[in-house]
Amino acid sequence: MLRDAGNLYNCTMTSPLSNIRIVLVGTTHPGNIGATARAMKVMGLERLVLVSPERYPSGEATAMASSADDVLANALVVDDFMDAIAGCGLVLGTTARLRSLPQPLFDPRTAAEKAVVEADAHEVALVFGREKSGLNNEEVRHCNWLVNVPTSEAYSSLNLAQAVQILAYELHLAAIGGGPGETLPPDWEPQPPERLEFYFQRLEEALLAIRFLNPAQPKRLMQRLRRLYLRARPDENELNILNGIVSAMLETARERSEAKD
Ligand code: SAH
Repeated sequence: MLRDAGNLYNCTMTSPLSNIRIVLVGTTHPGNIGATARAMKVMGLERLVLVSPERYPSGEATAMASSADDVLANALVVDDFMDAIAGCGLVLGTTARLRSLPQPLFDPRTAAEKAVVEADAHEVALVFGREKSGLNNEEVRHCNWLVNVPTSEAYSSLNLAQAVQILAYELHLAAIGGGPGETLPPDWEPQPPERLEFYFQRLEEALLAIRFLNPAQPKRLMQRLRRLYLRARPDENELNILNGIVSAMLETARERSEAKD
């Protein structure tokens, strides 16, 4: 199983766009995959990852890609969403609707400017959902930020490849727009989703062990905590401290329950 989609690319380009991957999740219509490849290539994006597409490869995809068939040929196909975003320091999810308990929400221009600044330092994923149902909650909960293209209130759902086109255009504008207006702290390297996930599993275990989390009445505690950490985006040192705290909680809970026996 593929663990880090980033490592399979041999990037020689120096543009920050070479660190940005477009991820399509559960795409139904192969024409949208081809049109996405075209939308990407005209804006200088090359890295496409497909999570469990319904029909792919497909002549329809190739026809819609036109001269972007190389982007299709280089696309990675994976089964697991976590494989598609592995190794990414920033994961942006796109959504046509606003959700309860949302992550920070940006418009395409702001999101693209921030993504291009970060892509100088680490891998970035821009994730698009299924034509019918978008991204599910499980996928959204791995996104640091969400992006919404402002639309008419009467109808907010863009065609998938058209949504990709708008974001790709903004990324291109941000990339050619000169030097970054913003710089990242030099010693800050946010941890990728797979490391955070490991921490979340242990945190849940520890909160159960100290009886802070009541399995009968979880009250969306883990969702709220996930959202807090996704906003904070801990670096390696910080995550080591957090994991250390969890270890101490588990150890103390174990000692207490042994003392009672
Ligand atoms: N009915 C679905 C719409 C999915 S449209 C829903 O409610 O979520 C397919 C994908 O195109 C979405 O998952 C998203 O990635 C993208 N998309 C469509 N409209 C968008 C918008 N207004 N802003 C951001 N992304 C959008």
